[in-house]
Amino acid sequence: MNSCQSSDTSGERKRWSLDNFEVGRPLGKGKFGNVYLAREVNSKFIVALKMLFKSQLQKANVEHQLRREIEIQANLRHPNILRLYGYFYDEKRVFLILEYAAQGELYKVLQSQPNGCFDEKRTARYILQLSQALGYCHSKKVIHRDIKPENILLDLRGDLKIADFGWSVHSPSSKRTTLCGTLDYLPPEMVEGKAHDENVDLWSIGVLAYEFLCGSPPFESESNAETYKKISKVDLKFPSHLSPGAKDLISRLLRHSPRERLNLEGVCKHPWIVKMLNPSG
Ligand code: AMP
Repeated sequence: MNSCQSSDTSGERKRWSLDNFEVGRPLGKGKFGNVYLAREVNSKFIVALKMLFKSQLQKANVEHQLRREIEIQANLRHPNILRLYGYFYDEKRVFLILEYAAQGELYKVLQSQPNGCFDEKRTARYILQLSQALGYCHSKKVIHRDIKPENILLDLRGDLKIADFGWSVHSPSSKRTTLCGTLDYLPPEMVEGKAHDENVDLWSIGVLAYEFLCGSPPFESESNAETYKKISKVDLKFPSHLSPGAKDLISRLLRHSPRERLNLEGVCKHPWIVKMLNPSG
């Protein structure tokens, strides 16, 4: 087994290899390999070990993206951002040593709810945690750009962890993004191929708040063309069960003009968030 350098929890260089881990059950299957529950042999520390096949990374031409993801995620320290403790590789595979999120994907938890949505209290808790994590990212000049339920995990206590930094960039960025996958979470400036900044993440908080409360994202349609139109026009309709406070927060985030969106501090202090998180509220 070859081993390679990685940075450990204290930021010092440390050599990790597969021999350092007892590998347990698979936690999930990703696009480029599997994720396993694992335990570091000496400390017994539990982690999630993500195994990626180099051949598949090369085929999809995403080695550069992975390098950036590692570089960004390994340097972030926040209770609502999944830790990347280190990495190592052998001839065929790359391994990421990740914090273990025991409750798994938020997406699946959402789908398993009786009505496919969360109540307002739970939504407010997730939106606050997400906003605090993104506030931290933005303070480090990192824009996530790909906030969606599939990229959010939950730990043992049910706290939210942003997990996937594959599309994140260091700002400022005027990049035109190659769009792939769903358009549902993208803001007007990105679907329209315009320059964008950290305000893209504000839009996705609004989309997520809507999806948590209503069970599906606000601009979901039969076709990409239809979704594109709805995003561009900000064609937003609320179901009748939403409270005025929730509607107010979402409407303030889903603004076509990036600069008009409620900022992260404003989200954390929004009266609906404050009311929902107040034990007597
Ligand atoms: P990914 O390759 O990141 O899409 O991961 C594939 C699946 O593995 C996810 O859908 C999760 O169910 C699971 N998974 C990934 N990372 C973790 C983690 N850190 N803790 C627990 N489960 C994880």
